Amino acid sequence: MASNQTPQRAPLMSLDEALSQVLAQARVLPDTESVAILDADGRFLAEDLISGLQVPPQDNSSMDGYAVRLEDLPMAGAKLKVTQRIPAGQSGHALLAGEAARIFTGAPIPPGANAVVMQEDTQALDTESQQEGHPVVQVNVLPTQGQWIRRSGEDVRKGDIVLPKGTRLNPASLGLAASIGRAQVSVIRKPRVALFSTGDELVMPGAIAPEAMRPGAIYNSNRFFLRALLLRAGCEVTDLGIVPDNLPDTLKVLKAAAQGHDLVLTSGGVSVGEEDHVKPAVEQLGHLNLWQISMKPGKPFAFGQLNVQDTSKQAAAYFMGLPGNPVSSFVTFQLMVRPFLMALQGQVETASKPYLIQANFDFPKPDKRREFLRVQRNASGSLDLFPNQSSGVLTSVVWGDGVIDNPSLQAIKQGDWVRYFPFADWLQ
Ligand code: AMP
Ligand code: MG
Repeated sequence: MASNQTPQRAPLMSLDEALSQVLAQARVLPDTESVAILDADGRFLAEDLISGLQVPPQDNSSMDGYAVRLEDLPMAGAKLKVTQRIPAGQSGHALLAGEAARIFTGAPIPPGANAVVMQEDTQALDTESQQEGHPVVQVNVLPTQGQWIRRSGEDVRKGDIVLPKGTRLNPASLGLAASIGRAQVSVIRKPRVALFSTGDELVMPGAIAPEAMRPGAIYNSNRFFLRALLLRAGCEVTDLGIVPDNLPDTLKVLKAAAQGHDLVLTSGGVSVGEEDHVKPAVEQLGHLNLWQISMKPGKPFAFGQLNVQDTSKQAAAYFMGLPGNPVSSFVTFQLMVRPFLMALQGQVETASKPYLIQANFDFPKPDKRREFLRVQRNASGSLDLFPNQSSGVLTSVVWGDGVIDNPSLQAIKQGDWVRYFPFADWLQ
Protein backbone atom coordinates (compact mmCIF):
# COMPACT_ATOMS: atom_id res chain seq x y z
CA MET A 1 0.00 0.00 0.00
CA ALA A 2 1.41 3.44 -0.92
CA SER A 3 2.29 5.42 2.20
CA ASN A 4 0.09 8.37 1.29
CA GLN A 5 -3.03 6.23 1.24
CA THR A 6 -5.23 6.47 4.33
CA PRO A 7 -5.41 3.09 6.08
CA GLN A 8 -8.67 1.24 5.50
CA ARG A 9 -10.93 0.96 8.54
CA ALA A 10 -11.89 -2.60 9.39
CA PRO A 11 -15.37 -3.30 8.01
CA LEU A 12 -18.12 -3.25 10.63
CA MET A 13 -19.48 -6.60 11.74
CA SER A 14 -23.19 -7.24 11.26
CA LEU A 15 -25.30 -7.49 14.39
CA ASP A 16 -26.55 -10.94 13.37
CA GLU A 17 -22.99 -12.20 12.98
CA ALA A 18 -21.94 -10.76 16.36
CA LEU A 19 -24.99 -12.26 18.07
CA SER A 20 -24.49 -15.68 16.54
CA GLN A 21 -20.84 -15.70 17.68
CA VAL A 22 -21.90 -14.78 21.21
CA LEU A 23 -24.69 -17.36 21.31
CA ALA A 24 -22.36 -20.04 19.96
CA GLN A 25 -20.21 -19.55 23.10
CA ALA A 26 -23.14 -19.66 25.54
CA ARG A 27 -23.18 -22.91 27.53
CA VAL A 28 -26.31 -23.60 29.54
CA LEU A 29 -25.38 -23.27 33.24
CA PRO A 30 -24.74 -26.78 34.58
CA ASP A 31 -26.48 -26.38 37.95
CA THR A 32 -30.17 -26.90 38.53
CA GLU A 33 -32.26 -26.43 41.64
CA SER A 34 -35.69 -27.52 42.75
CA VAL A 35 -37.99 -24.61 43.58
CA ALA A 36 -41.60 -24.39 44.72
CA ILE A 37 -43.81 -23.22 41.86
CA LEU A 38 -44.90 -20.40 44.16
CA ASP A 39 -41.35 -19.02 43.79
CA ALA A 40 -40.71 -20.03 40.18
CA ASP A 41 -42.04 -17.03 38.22
CA GLY A 42 -39.36 -15.95 35.71
CA ARG A 43 -37.24 -19.09 36.14
CA PHE A 44 -36.22 -21.43 33.31
CA LEU A 45 -37.29 -25.07 33.35
CA ALA A 46 -34.47 -27.61 33.49
CA GLU A 47 -36.88 -30.50 32.80
CA ASP A 48 -39.83 -31.29 30.54
CA LEU A 49 -43.05 -31.08 32.53
CA ILE A 50 -45.04 -34.19 31.58
CA SER A 51 -48.61 -34.67 32.67
CA GLY A 52 -49.50 -37.76 34.68
CA LEU A 53 -53.23 -37.17 34.20
CA GLN A 54 -55.93 -35.83 31.91
CA VAL A 55 -57.01 -32.21 32.45
CA PRO A 56 -59.89 -32.04 33.05
CA PRO A 57 -59.80 -35.51 34.60
CA GLN A 58 -63.40 -36.39 33.60
CA ASP A 59 -66.05 -35.09 31.23
CA ASN A 60 -67.76 -32.35 33.26
CA SER A 61 -70.39 -29.70 33.02
CA SER A 62 -69.53 -26.14 32.02
CA MET A 63 -72.94 -24.85 33.18
CA ASP A 64 -75.32 -25.06 36.09
CA GLY A 65 -78.30 -27.01 34.71
CA TYR A 66 -79.39 -30.58 33.93
CA ALA A 67 -77.47 -33.49 32.44
CA VAL A 68 -79.78 -35.27 29.96
CA ARG A 69 -80.01 -37.98 27.30
CA LEU A 70 -80.89 -36.53 23.88
CA GLU A 71 -82.89 -39.65 23.07
CA ASP A 72 -85.37 -38.68 25.84
CA LEU A 73 -86.07 -35.27 24.28
CA PRO A 74 -88.20 -35.57 21.12
CA MET A 75 -89.27 -31.90 21.24
CA ALA A 76 -88.92 -28.70 23.21
CA GLY A 77 -91.13 -28.83 26.30
CA ALA A 78 -90.35 -32.50 27.07
CA LYS A 79 -90.33 -33.41 30.76
CA LEU A 80 -87.79 -35.49 32.70
CA LYS A 81 -87.69 -36.66 36.29
CA VAL A 82 -84.72 -35.42 38.26
CA THR A 83 -83.27 -38.46 40.00
CA GLN A 84 -79.92 -37.18 41.24
CA ARG A 85 -78.06 -34.02 42.19
CA ILE A 86 -74.33 -33.70 41.36
CA PRO A 87 -72.42 -30.72 42.81
CA ALA A 88 -68.77 -30.07 41.85
CA GLY A 89 -66.46 -32.47 43.66
CA GLN A 90 -68.92 -35.39 43.69
CA SER A 91 -69.77 -37.98 41.09
CA GLY A 92 -73.21 -39.26 40.13
CA HIS A 93 -74.51 -42.58 38.85
CA ALA A 94 -75.79 -43.77 35.47
CA LEU A 95 -78.69 -41.86 33.99
CA LEU A 96 -81.63 -44.07 32.94
CA ALA A 97 -84.31 -43.46 30.31
CA GLY A 98 -86.51 -40.50 31.13
CA GLU A 99 -84.15 -39.16 33.80
CA ALA A 100 -82.19 -35.93 34.24
CA ALA A 101 -79.46 -35.09 36.76
CA ARG A 102 -79.37 -31.70 38.44
CA ILE A 103 -75.72 -30.71 37.79
CA PHE A 104 -73.42 -27.80 38.62
CA THR A 105 -70.40 -26.28 36.87
CA GLY A 106 -67.35 -28.54 37.15
CA ALA A 107 -69.30 -31.65 38.27
CA PRO A 108 -68.62 -34.91 36.37
CA ILE A 109 -71.16 -35.88 33.71
CA PRO A 110 -72.96 -39.06 34.83
CA PRO A 111 -72.65 -42.13 32.58
CA GLY A 112 -75.38 -42.17 29.92
CA ALA A 113 -75.82 -38.38 29.72
CA ASN A 114 -74.78 -36.78 26.44
CA ALA A 115 -75.64 -33.10 26.88
CA VAL A 116 -76.25 -30.46 29.52
CA VAL A 117 -79.18 -28.06 29.36
CA MET A 118 -78.43 -24.81 31.13
CA GLN A 119 -80.88 -23.98 33.88
CA GLU A 120 -82.03 -20.81 32.09
CA ASP A 121 -83.44 -23.09 29.32
CA THR A 122 -85.49 -25.18 31.74
CA GLN A 123 -88.38 -24.84 34.11
CA ALA A 124 -88.60 -26.75 37.39
CA LEU A 125 -92.25 -27.85 37.68
CA ASP A 126 -94.24 -27.51 40.90
CA THR A 127 -94.41 -30.33 43.41
CA GLU A 128 -97.82 -31.64 42.17
CA SER A 129 -96.20 -32.92 39.01
CA GLN A 130 -93.62 -35.09 40.87
CA GLN A 131 -93.05 -38.56 39.41
CA GLU A 132 -92.35 -41.43 41.82
CA GLY A 133 -91.28 -38.91 44.42
CA HIS A 134 -88.82 -37.16 42.07
CA PRO A 135 -89.12 -33.53 41.00
CA VAL A 136 -89.78 -32.91 37.30
CA VAL A 137 -88.02 -30.49 34.96
CA GLN A 138 -89.32 -29.22 31.64
CA VAL A 139 -86.67 -28.69 28.94
CA ASN A 140 -87.66 -25.60 26.96
CA VAL A 141 -84.76 -25.50 24.49
CA LEU A 142 -83.44 -28.69 22.91
CA PRO A 143 -79.70 -29.19 23.42
CA THR A 144 -77.29 -30.45 20.79
CA GLN A 145 -75.09 -33.52 21.23
CA GLY A 146 -72.32 -32.78 23.74
CA GLN A 147 -73.60 -29.29 24.59
CA TRP A 148 -71.99 -27.69 27.68
CA ILE A 149 -69.80 -30.73 28.28
CA ARG A 150 -66.09 -30.13 28.78
CA ARG A 151 -64.29 -33.24 27.63
CA SER A 152 -61.72 -35.12 29.66
CA GLY A 153 -58.26 -34.22 28.37
CA GLU A 154 -59.42 -31.29 26.24
CA ASP A 155 -56.80 -29.10 27.98
CA VAL A 156 -54.03 -31.65 28.64
CA ARG A 157 -53.78 -35.34 27.84
CA LYS A 158 -51.97 -37.82 30.07
CA GLY A 159 -48.36 -38.10 28.81
CA ASP A 160 -48.33 -34.68 27.12
CA ILE A 161 -45.26 -32.47 27.56
CA VAL A 162 -47.12 -29.41 28.76
CA LEU A 163 -44.02 -27.21 29.16
CA PRO A 164 -40.73 -28.20 27.52
CA LYS A 165 -37.31 -27.79 29.12
CA GLY A 166 -36.01 -24.27 28.46
CA THR A 167 -39.40 -22.61 28.93
CA ARG A 168 -39.31 -19.43 30.98
CA LEU A 169 -42.07 -19.72 33.56
CA ASN A 170 -44.65 -16.93 33.70
CA PRO A 171 -47.96 -16.55 35.55
CA ALA A 172 -49.89 -18.53 32.91
CA SER A 173 -47.42 -21.43 32.77
CA LEU A 174 -47.27 -21.60 36.59
CA GLY A 175 -51.04 -22.14 36.55
CA LEU A 176 -50.65 -24.90 33.96
CA ALA A 177 -47.88 -26.59 36.00
CA ALA A 178 -50.17 -26.55 39.03
CA SER A 179 -53.05 -28.00 36.98
CA ILE A 180 -51.03 -31.18 36.41
CA GLY A 181 -50.19 -31.42 40.09
CA ARG A 182 -46.65 -30.03 40.19
CA ALA A 183 -45.66 -28.29 43.42
CA GLN A 184 -41.90 -28.20 42.74
CA VAL A 185 -40.04 -27.80 39.46
CA SER A 186 -36.41 -28.17 38.47
CA VAL A 187 -34.98 -24.90 37.13
CA ILE A 188 -31.56 -23.63 36.01
CA ARG A 189 -29.82 -21.68 38.74
CA LYS A 190 -29.72 -17.92 38.25
CA PRO A 191 -26.71 -16.53 36.37
CA ARG A 192 -24.36 -14.61 38.68
CA VAL A 193 -23.29 -11.35 37.11
CA ALA A 194 -20.69 -8.84 38.34
CA LEU A 195 -21.40 -5.33 37.10
CA PHE A 196 -19.21 -2.25 37.05
CA SER A 197 -18.99 1.07 35.24
CA THR A 198 -15.78 2.72 34.08
CA GLY A 199 -15.13 6.41 33.77
CA ASP A 200 -13.34 9.05 35.89
CA GLU A 201 -16.13 11.48 35.05
CA LEU A 202 -18.77 9.35 36.78
CA VAL A 203 -20.33 10.23 40.11
CA MET A 204 -22.91 8.16 41.97
CA PRO A 205 -26.23 9.91 42.54
CA GLY A 206 -26.38 10.73 46.23
CA ALA A 207 -22.59 11.09 46.58
CA ILE A 208 -22.46 14.69 45.36
CA ALA A 209 -25.39 17.10 45.10
CA PRO A 210 -26.21 18.44 41.60
CA GLU A 211 -25.11 22.00 42.48
CA ALA A 212 -21.74 20.74 43.80
CA MET A 213 -20.78 18.71 40.69
CA ARG A 214 -17.37 19.71 39.31
CA PRO A 215 -17.15 20.61 35.62
CA GLY A 216 -16.98 17.52 33.44
CA ALA A 217 -18.60 15.26 35.99
CA ILE A 218 -21.80 13.35 35.18
CA TYR A 219 -23.95 11.00 37.18
CA ASN A 220 -23.60 7.28 36.57
CA SER A 221 -26.88 6.38 34.93
CA ASN A 222 -25.88 3.11 33.24
CA ARG A 223 -25.39 1.30 36.55
CA PHE A 224 -29.02 1.72 37.46
CA PHE A 225 -30.70 0.57 34.29
CA LEU A 226 -28.18 -2.23 33.72
CA ARG A 227 -28.70 -3.62 37.21
CA ALA A 228 -32.48 -3.46 36.75
CA LEU A 229 -32.26 -5.09 33.30
CA LEU A 230 -30.08 -7.90 34.71
CA LEU A 231 -32.55 -8.57 37.52
CA ARG A 232 -35.42 -8.71 35.02
CA ALA A 233 -33.41 -11.14 32.91
CA GLY A 234 -33.31 -13.46 35.92
CA CYS A 235 -29.78 -12.78 37.23
CA GLU A 236 -28.18 -12.33 40.63
CA VAL A 237 -26.15 -9.13 40.48
CA THR A 238 -22.97 -8.13 42.33
CA ASP A 239 -22.60 -4.39 41.97
CA LEU A 240 -18.92 -3.37 41.91
CA GLY A 241 -19.57 0.35 41.46
CA ILE A 242 -17.31 2.65 39.46
CA VAL A 243 -13.77 1.70 38.43
CA PRO A 244 -11.33 4.53 37.63
CA ASP A 245 -9.82 4.84 34.17
CA ASN A 246 -6.45 3.17 34.78
CA LEU A 247 -5.02 -0.25 34.05
CA PRO A 248 -4.07 -1.42 37.59
CA ASP A 249 -7.50 -0.70 39.06
CA THR A 250 -9.25 -2.27 36.09
CA LEU A 251 -7.09 -5.42 36.42
CA LYS A 252 -7.71 -5.66 40.16
CA VAL A 253 -11.48 -5.45 39.83
CA LEU A 254 -11.64 -7.86 36.90
CA LYS A 255 -9.61 -10.46 38.82
CA ALA A 256 -11.94 -10.24 41.78
CA ALA A 257 -15.03 -10.23 39.57
CA ALA A 258 -14.02 -13.42 37.77
CA GLN A 259 -14.39 -15.31 41.08
CA GLY A 260 -17.85 -16.68 41.67
CA HIS A 261 -19.52 -15.09 38.64
CA ASP A 262 -20.66 -16.42 35.31
CA LEU A 263 -20.47 -13.06 33.56
CA VAL A 264 -18.62 -9.81 34.16
CA LEU A 265 -20.51 -6.95 32.52
CA THR A 266 -19.08 -3.46 32.18
CA SER A 267 -20.10 -0.21 30.56
CA GLY A 268 -17.74 2.34 29.05
CA GLY A 269 -14.07 2.08 28.24
CA VAL A 270 -14.41 -0.25 25.25
CA SER A 271 -13.60 2.29 22.58
CA VAL A 272 -9.98 2.41 21.50
CA GLY A 273 -8.99 5.70 23.12
CA GLU A 274 -6.05 6.08 25.52
CA GLU A 275 -8.45 6.19 28.46
CA ASP A 276 -10.07 2.89 27.52
CA HIS A 277 -8.39 0.28 29.71
CA VAL A 278 -10.91 -2.52 29.59
CA LYS A 279 -9.53 -4.05 26.41
CA PRO A 280 -5.87 -4.41 27.54
CA ALA A 281 -6.95 -5.56 31.01
CA VAL A 282 -9.23 -8.35 29.74
CA GLU A 283 -6.55 -9.38 27.24
CA GLN A 284 -4.07 -9.83 30.12
CA LEU A 285 -6.50 -12.03 32.04
CA GLY A 286 -7.99 -14.05 29.23
CA HIS A 287 -8.99 -13.15 25.73
CA LEU A 288 -11.19 -10.53 24.16
CA ASN A 289 -12.88 -9.74 20.88
CA LEU A 290 -13.52 -6.06 20.43
CA TRP A 291 -16.06 -5.66 17.68
CA GLN A 292 -17.33 -2.66 15.80
CA ILE A 293 -20.91 -3.68 15.18
CA SER A 294 -22.92 -2.11 12.40
CA MET A 295 -25.65 -0.79 14.68
CA LYS A 296 -26.82 2.62 15.83
CA PRO A 297 -26.93 3.46 18.66
CA GLY A 298 -24.09 1.20 19.69
CA LYS A 299 -21.05 0.02 17.72
CA PRO A 300 -18.22 -0.87 20.10
CA PHE A 301 -18.92 -4.13 21.90
CA ALA A 302 -16.47 -6.42 23.67
CA PHE A 303 -16.92 -10.12 24.24
CA GLY A 304 -14.43 -12.48 25.79
CA GLN A 305 -13.46 -14.70 28.63
CA LEU A 306 -11.58 -14.22 31.89
CA ASN A 307 -9.41 -17.12 33.11
CA VAL A 308 -7.87 -16.11 36.38
CA GLN A 309 -5.38 -18.36 38.18
CA ASP A 310 -5.44 -17.25 41.79
CA THR A 311 -2.98 -18.87 44.23
CA SER A 312 -5.06 -22.04 44.56
CA LYS A 313 -8.22 -21.83 42.51
CA GLN A 314 -8.96 -21.25 38.88
CA ALA A 315 -11.82 -18.87 38.07
CA ALA A 316 -13.46 -18.40 34.71
CA ALA A 317 -16.18 -16.04 33.58
CA TYR A 318 -17.58 -14.64 30.39
CA PHE A 319 -16.87 -10.98 29.79
CA MET A 320 -19.09 -8.45 28.01
CA GLY A 321 -18.26 -4.78 27.61
CA LEU A 322 -20.97 -2.32 26.59
CA PRO A 323 -20.45 1.14 25.15
CA GLY A 324 -20.59 4.01 27.65
CA ASN A 325 -23.21 6.17 25.98
CA PRO A 326 -26.38 5.39 27.89
CA VAL A 327 -28.72 4.69 24.97
CA SER A 328 -26.04 2.63 23.21
CA SER A 329 -25.57 0.67 26.40
CA PHE A 330 -29.33 0.13 26.84
CA VAL A 331 -29.94 -1.01 23.27
CA THR A 332 -26.81 -3.17 23.07
CA PHE A 333 -27.81 -4.88 26.31
CA GLN A 334 -31.20 -5.77 24.85
CA LEU A 335 -29.84 -7.02 21.54
CA MET A 336 -26.69 -8.82 22.68
CA VAL A 337 -26.56 -9.40 26.44
CA ARG A 338 -30.18 -10.34 27.06
CA PRO A 339 -30.28 -13.14 24.44
CA PHE A 340 -26.97 -14.43 25.85
CA LEU A 341 -28.40 -14.52 29.38
CA MET A 342 -31.49 -16.32 28.09
CA ALA A 343 -29.24 -18.88 26.39
CA LEU A 344 -27.22 -19.40 29.62
CA GLN A 345 -30.52 -20.28 31.26
CA GLY A 346 -31.41 -22.77 28.55
CA GLN A 347 -34.01 -20.84 26.55
CA VAL A 348 -34.15 -22.44 23.15
CA GLU A 349 -35.51 -19.55 21.06
CA THR A 350 -33.86 -16.29 22.11
CA ALA A 351 -34.88 -14.04 19.19
CA SER A 352 -37.77 -11.67 19.85
CA LYS A 353 -40.49 -11.31 17.23
CA PRO A 354 -41.10 -7.95 15.52
CA TYR A 355 -44.48 -6.36 14.90
CA LEU A 356 -45.17 -4.77 11.51
CA ILE A 357 -46.55 -1.28 12.16
CA GLN A 358 -46.90 1.89 10.06
CA ALA A 359 -44.60 4.85 10.58
CA ASN A 360 -46.26 8.21 11.22
CA PHE A 361 -43.19 10.20 10.15
CA ASP A 362 -40.64 10.67 7.38
CA PHE A 363 -37.06 9.61 7.98
CA PRO A 364 -35.29 10.73 4.82
CA LYS A 365 -31.64 10.43 5.90
CA PRO A 366 -30.98 6.85 6.99
CA ASP A 367 -27.64 5.77 8.42
CA LYS A 368 -25.20 3.30 6.90
CA ARG A 369 -25.56 1.27 10.09
CA ARG A 370 -28.69 -0.71 10.97
CA GLU A 371 -30.52 1.73 13.20
CA PHE A 372 -32.78 1.25 16.21
CA LEU A 373 -35.06 4.29 16.27
CA ARG A 374 -36.84 5.14 19.50
CA VAL A 375 -40.55 5.48 18.82
CA GLN A 376 -43.89 5.55 20.58
CA ARG A 377 -47.21 4.03 19.47
CA ASN A 378 -49.85 6.72 19.08
CA ALA A 379 -53.61 6.52 19.55
CA SER A 380 -54.20 5.55 15.91
CA GLY A 381 -51.80 2.62 16.20
CA SER A 382 -48.93 4.03 14.12
CA LEU A 383 -45.49 5.06 15.37
CA ASP A 384 -44.22 8.53 16.26
CA LEU A 385 -40.47 9.21 16.20
CA PHE A 386 -38.63 10.79 19.14
CA PRO A 387 -37.05 13.95 17.70
CA ASN A 388 -33.60 13.49 19.24
CA GLN A 389 -32.05 10.11 18.39
CA SER A 390 -28.65 10.88 19.93
CA SER A 391 -27.02 7.97 21.77
CA GLY A 392 -26.67 10.05 24.94
CA VAL A 393 -30.32 11.07 25.25
CA LEU A 394 -31.93 8.70 27.76
CA THR A 395 -35.20 10.61 27.47
CA SER A 396 -35.66 8.84 24.12
CA VAL A 397 -35.95 5.41 25.78
CA VAL A 398 -38.22 6.75 28.50
CA TRP A 399 -40.55 8.55 26.08
CA GLY A 400 -40.34 5.66 23.60
CA ASP A 401 -42.14 2.37 24.15
CA GLY A 402 -39.97 0.50 21.68
CA VAL A 403 -37.67 0.70 18.69
CA ILE A 404 -37.95 0.39 14.95
CA ASP A 405 -35.34 -1.97 13.55
CA ASN A 406 -34.42 -0.01 10.42
CA PRO A 407 -32.09 -1.63 7.87
CA SER A 408 -28.94 0.13 6.69
CA LEU A 409 -29.61 3.01 4.26
CA GLN A 410 -33.37 2.52 4.32
CA ALA A 411 -35.33 5.79 4.19
CA ILE A 412 -38.78 5.73 5.82
CA LYS A 413 -41.84 7.53 4.45
CA GLN A 414 -45.00 8.16 6.40
CA GLY A 415 -47.25 5.10 6.00
CA ASP A 416 -44.38 2.65 5.42
CA TRP A 417 -44.61 -0.62 7.33
CA VAL A 418 -41.67 -1.00 9.70
CA ARG A 419 -40.39 -3.64 12.11
CA TYR A 420 -41.19 -2.61 15.69
CA PHE A 421 -39.96 -4.23 18.91
CA PRO A 422 -41.78 -3.12 22.07
CA PHE A 423 -39.55 -2.57 25.09
CA ALA A 424 -42.16 -4.52 27.06
CA ASP A 425 -40.97 -7.72 25.33
CA TRP A 426 -37.43 -7.03 26.47
CA LEU A 427 -38.26 -6.02 30.02
CA GLN A 428 -40.04 -9.22 30.99
P1 AMP B 1 -16.84 5.65 26.85
O1 AMP B 1 -17.48 4.48 26.19
O2 AMP B 1 -16.21 5.32 28.15
O3 AMP B 1 -15.93 6.36 25.91
O4 AMP B 1 -18.02 6.66 27.16
C1 AMP B 1 -18.82 7.22 26.12
C2 AMP B 1 -19.73 8.28 26.69
O5 AMP B 1 -20.63 7.71 27.60
C3 AMP B 1 -19.03 9.37 27.46
O6 AMP B 1 -19.69 10.60 27.19
C4 AMP B 1 -19.23 8.98 28.90
O7 AMP B 1 -19.18 10.06 29.77
C5 AMP B 1 -20.60 8.36 28.86
N1 AMP B 1 -20.71 7.36 29.91
C6 AMP B 1 -19.87 6.33 30.13
N2 AMP B 1 -20.27 5.60 31.18
C7 AMP B 1 -21.40 6.16 31.64
C8 AMP B 1 -22.29 5.86 32.71
N3 AMP B 1 -22.08 4.82 33.52
N4 AMP B 1 -23.37 6.66 32.91
C9 AMP B 1 -23.58 7.72 32.09
N5 AMP B 1 -22.79 8.04 31.06
C10 AMP B 1 -21.70 7.29 30.82
MG1 MG C 1 -14.95 6.23 29.43
